[in-house]
Amino acid sequence: MSRETVYIGFGSNVGNRVDFCDRTVTLLSLLPHSQVTGVSLLYETEPVNDGANPGNHWFLNGVVRLETDIAPRSLLETLREIERSLGRDEDNRSGPRTIDLDILFYGERVIDEPGLTIPHPRLHQRRFVLMPLSELDPLLVHPIRHRSVNQMLAETADASEVRLLFPQPSTTYGSRPSCSSHPDS
Ligand code: ADP
Ligand code: MG
Repeated sequence: MSRETVYIGFGSNVGNRVDFCDRTVTLLSLLPHSQVTGVSLLYETEPVNDGANPGNHWFLNGVVRLETDIAPRSLLETLREIERSLGRDEDNRSGPRTIDLDILFYGERVIDEPGLTIPHPRLHQRRFVLMPLSELDPLLVHPIRHRSVNQMLAETADASEVRLLFPQPSTTYGSRPSCSSHPDS
């Protein structure tokens, strides 16, 4: 097993969105063979209809950085479990969602298999992903596009609104790891 740096995007646009995001970060921080080393702030974002049909409710979005030994397929399964445990409507996956979890980057790996594409194929088209990502690692380079997160943010055609949630909520389910670049501190 080799430890890799993984970025996971999360978004919620149904019910108590802050609570779903908070529970998600806590559940990710409890995963075995893994350590959360960064959590972005929460952003309020306009729903974007790029393939899905999530309804009219605005999302809360953020990104978590995870150092993990969990292999990509297992991680995807784990994220599906977290989605299910938080009440994601499996019968209408593309509709409004309590929580959506996407693997954005898995180290520098490029994976293109049925049901799993890494880097996430639409991340460069989504300001709601690029903004929180740039907070955690603005210089991270996309292994296919060879552009940094900040460059992709400057170049994206996505004009949808993404604004910092204010005030930022405090966490209910445990202390959040700070956005430290020193996982052992
Ligand atoms: P979206 O996130 O695009 O709104 P879904 O959450 O319903 O839509 O995901 C649709 C499918 O995308 C999932 O069944 C999953 O297998 C697949 N998928 C492919 N690549 C990834 C990835 N990198 N992260 C998460 N899901 C992915
Ligand atoms: Mg998804």
